Amino acid sequence: MELIKNNSGGLKLCLNGYMYTKKNTKKTSIRWECSQKRGLDCLGAVNTDIEVQTVLSSKDHNHEADFDKIEATKAVNVMKNGANISRGRPQQLVVDVLQPLPVEVRAAAGTTNAVKQRIRRQMNKLRPKDPASLQELDLSEDWKHTGEPYRHPFLLHDSGRDSENRILVFGTGQALRHLCASNKWYMDGTHPPTPGLFRQLYVIRAPLGNTAVTCVYALLPGKSQEIYEELFQSLDQKCEEMGLTPDSSIVVILYNEIKSKENANK
Ligand SMILES: [Zn+2]
Repeated sequence: MELIKNNSGGLKLCLNGYMYTKKNTKKTSIRWECSQKRGLDCLGAVNTDIEVQTVLSSKDHNHEADFDKIEATKAVNVMKNGANISRGRPQQLVVDVLQPLPVEVRAAAGTTNAVKQRIRRQMNKLRPKDPASLQELDLSEDWKHTGEPYRHPFLLHDSGRDSENRILVFGTGQALRHLCASNKWYMDGTHPPTPGLFRQLYVIRAPLGNTAVTCVYALLPGKSQEIYEELFQSLDQKCEEMGLTPDSSIVVILYNEIKSKENANK
């Protein structure tokens, strides 16, 4: 007998390839009904003792046992839990959790798209309500750090709820160290993924091998000089706190300008 947590946090009992949902608890026993009661009109059920150690009585099912389905349910639960703690991307969770499993179990879990959708739904449930204004935006500790398992401070600067032009700057210490060691900074502004409050998501990237990595993410409410000044002052201050000195020969490359020049040459 094995107990697993179902989607809404309730318990499911797994026994001999069948899954049961808790129906009610009496003084000395618990009644469990087949999880496919509705789907298959199955009357299968068991009564266990309170500690769920012994089966006291049982009723037969009208369908075959399905061990793969149980394994698949467990895998989906692990992925949903991963969505909670790591804010991981559904695709990554599927690769990490589902792909190593036998093909029968993967098939029982449903299509990859359906699984991803279930994970996404779980993520949406956990997402805080969108604030109506920047003054209302309240960052809890959880959102000031990177996700598990490598929980690092991530918020570098927040100009505060009372600020007229509130900006948020994110980056890890490791990324800031990498940025300071680089003499080339690529900067680019783009529309934020959730528009409304901020006007742009501004990124600062630095070369790494043959490519470049994003070291700083800034959510900016506009494009005024004042806002950019605050961004760079906050980075200066953070570097100083960390004992970092940016490379003195930095070449700043504005990505949007390159793109617009390229377009003009076409
Ligand atoms: Zn059944």
